[in-house]
Amino acid sequence: MADASAECNIKVLCRFRPLNQSEIIRGDKFIPSFQGDDTVGIAGKSYVFDRVFPTDTTQEQVYNTCAKQIVKDVLGGYNGTIFAYGQTSSGKTHTMEGKLHDPHGMGIIPRIAEDIFNHIFAMDENLEFHIKVSYFEIYMDKIRDLLDVTKTNLAVHEDKNRVPYVKGCTERFVSSPEEVMDVIDEGKANRHVAVTNMNEHSSRSHSIFLINIKQEHVETEQKLCGKLYLVDLAGSEKVSKTGAEGAVLDEAKNINKSLSSLGNVISALAEGTKTHVPYRDSKMTRILQDSLGGNCRTTMFICCSPSSYNDQETKSTLMFGQRAK
Ligand code: ADP
Ligand code: MG
Repeated sequence: MADASAECNIKVLCRFRPLNQSEIIRGDKFIPSFQGDDTVGIAGKSYVFDRVFPTDTTQEQVYNTCAKQIVKDVLGGYNGTIFAYGQTSSGKTHTMEGKLHDPHGMGIIPRIAEDIFNHIFAMDENLEFHIKVSYFEIYMDKIRDLLDVTKTNLAVHEDKNRVPYVKGCTERFVSSPEEVMDVIDEGKANRHVAVTNMNEHSSRSHSIFLINIKQEHVETEQKLCGKLYLVDLAGSEKVSKTGAEGAVLDEAKNINKSLSSLGNVISALAEGTKTHVPYRDSKMTRILQDSLGGNCRTTMFICCSPSSYNDQETKSTLMFGQRAK
């Protein structure tokens, strides 16, 4: 086990994407003003985070400033979670995955995959590593295995140490970054097959990539475990109450509920004084329970559009991030 006295560690980072082509053509204004490296101003109000990334920040800069350390910590026996939160099209998937097979464009997950194996190759030869990954999504409160399309409604159980986990979810052993990438490609292909409109679907489901690392010293048999959840959340946008009905409204309510229970858990953890953290209010927070707060590394990316057209959503996204501070 890692040092149980380590402080609870929640970092909130804010990233703005550039204006896109259709926003420019429409004549939208670029509304954020960046101050220092931790503050962004919108309509005269300032929002302070652990770090604010302006639109020209590269994938490499994002990785080096906030994800690199987590890899070291997970190899040191800590658990961790990295989330991306924001409205649809704000840059969540760009931040978490990016262009998967492009050295410049790749996001956090492929960089983590490379970094883990770079560290391992440089470590004590007497350490034996077992790394396995899972890939699943939560849609309408159902857990769907992205590595086995026959598993469409998996349950959350607790192991003998009362640690929650997704029972029956496929686990793949991996021994190189390329194998991790193959698993991601496979999961994404499965996700495409299962739905008619991928953009809509991905904006309404949470996708979760789990990396589990076990190491054992061949002589002393000393063991160390760490795991890292990488979460691309459903879009946080509000569905207009008048327009939506039926299935769309149900989806919206469901997303709203799961995102607000995540917000409640994070803000209870950030406050640090609450004895009750409401993990049990949603499937996602139950699954993440032993990788959030306490002896863990938690990083939340708050992804934002810079366009005047999205100013209300951007404000509510920034407010969500502020709750975790
Ligand atoms: P989301 O997952 O939040 O719905 P995406 O990550 O798919 O949003 O981003 C929407 C579009 O904007 C994509 O085409 C993506 O490549 C582009 N994009 C997002 N963030 C950035 C960025 N920081 N720099 C350049 N392009 C970006
Ligand atoms: Mg996305």
